[in-house]
Amino acid sequence: MLTKFNTIRLQRHLLAWFRKNKRDLPWRRTRDPYRIWVSEVMLQQTQVATALPHYRRFLARFPTVEALAEASDQAVLKVWQGLGYYRRAMNLRAAARAVVRDHGGRIPDDPAAFAALPGVGRYTCGAVLSIAFGRRLAALDGNAVRVIARWLALTQTVDRPATRAKLWSAAEALVPERGAVPFSRRCEKGAVPLSGGSLEQLTVGFSGNSRGGQSCPPRHGTPGHGRSAAGKTARRAACEKGAVPLYGAAASKKGTAPFSEKPEKGAVPFFSNPPGDWNQAVMELGATVCLPRGPRCGECPVCRHCRAAAKGIQDRIPARRRRKPIPHIEVGAGIIWRHGRVLLCKRRADAMLGGLWEFPGGKRRPGESVQRCIRRELMEECALPVTVGKHLIDVTHTYTHLRVTLRVYHCRAGAGRLKLLGCDDARWVRPQDIARYPLPAADVKILEALFSAG
Ligand code: SF4
Repeated sequence: MLTKFNTIRLQRHLLAWFRKNKRDLPWRRTRDPYRIWVSEVMLQQTQVATALPHYRRFLARFPTVEALAEASDQAVLKVWQGLGYYRRAMNLRAAARAVVRDHGGRIPDDPAAFAALPGVGRYTCGAVLSIAFGRRLAALDGNAVRVIARWLALTQTVDRPATRAKLWSAAEALVPERGAVPFSRRCEKGAVPLSGGSLEQLTVGFSGNSRGGQSCPPRHGTPGHGRSAAGKTARRAACEKGAVPLYGAAASKKGTAPFSEKPEKGAVPFFSNPPGDWNQAVMELGATVCLPRGPRCGECPVCRHCRAAAKGIQDRIPARRRRKPIPHIEVGAGIIWRHGRVLLCKRRADAMLGGLWEFPGGKRRPGESVQRCIRRELMEECALPVTVGKHLIDVTHTYTHLRVTLRVYHCRAGAGRLKLLGCDDARWVRPQDIARYPLPAADVKILEALFSAG
């Protein structure tokens, strides 16, 4: 593990880099815990570019935790459509209901209470509470695993529970105190001094080096950022334990503002949030510099602290278990017509893609023709006899653990009432209304083919 001395230097270098280089993302412009929570859930297993439009749409539709709590399954899944991992959306809605019911609509900042909400795991708990409330908690996602494993030159397989435990404990040790001041005394352009914490920590790593105490740009407008004795005293006062960080204009007006106060639109946080900034900085480094393949060590702000780079083994870290090849299955699916309408079935809530609507069908058995598979599946799913007609399209979609090829045929429904044997609901829908239903990605492609075929 890194010594305290090196940890503080590492924190200082990475946080300074983050301040200057972080991407301007909408969830970084707010301290609203609900918005931060939504972003963290969306960003799991999802690239920033993919999450961005969904984040905006989701918050336009459900701007508060109360609005989300009142929403129907279908409304939530429809806005989530295209992001995948739909269980996240259902858990988020269930958690919103618990927040309204048990916490009066306020997202709890207590780790035990927040982690008890549906779908909140260790990562989400650490990320949301550190970023929104300044809690000193680690957040270890895939990017952070890679970065920390490289800093420590950890060559063990990171999928093993023992290695994960080691990484979590390293991640926790690295998160700065909320009141710590791991920055240079030099107020670089754009630097954000932190309040609270001990001056002893501030001085670690400088050993009396007189570079400290340079004048700050006047725009900082904070007492204590000059080189005079009075300034030093004021700085000490500003850094006393319990001092509260300020935002923009509020800093120069009154001298106090609650840490969790939402900054005015466009305001830059005057004082920062070391635990939240740190977690974001580690993940940002992983996303933009310490890449899985070809880490850009030449541009890395913390290269001097990285043991893997020193040993030249960064490309071999993190080591992972060799994955088994993912299985590939074939599915027969039908566009089932009756009186100009098409049958849509709602997948069982506890199944993969639970709650989404689909063109019905199922897995083809060995030796079975696709047509026979569709007839059998429709009888099993909703007791409906069908006649299979023309082929429409084949669609292949890859999930994390499964590759599926859907072979899709037009079908005509026979007589008889629908029975819900293998699905939660079934409806005859006009083709122009199908897009109102939340559909899996593969079914969206089928719908496009249906319309382009006329
Ligand atoms: S030096 Fe290279 S391997 Fe180490 S943290 Fe930086 S980018 Fe990653």
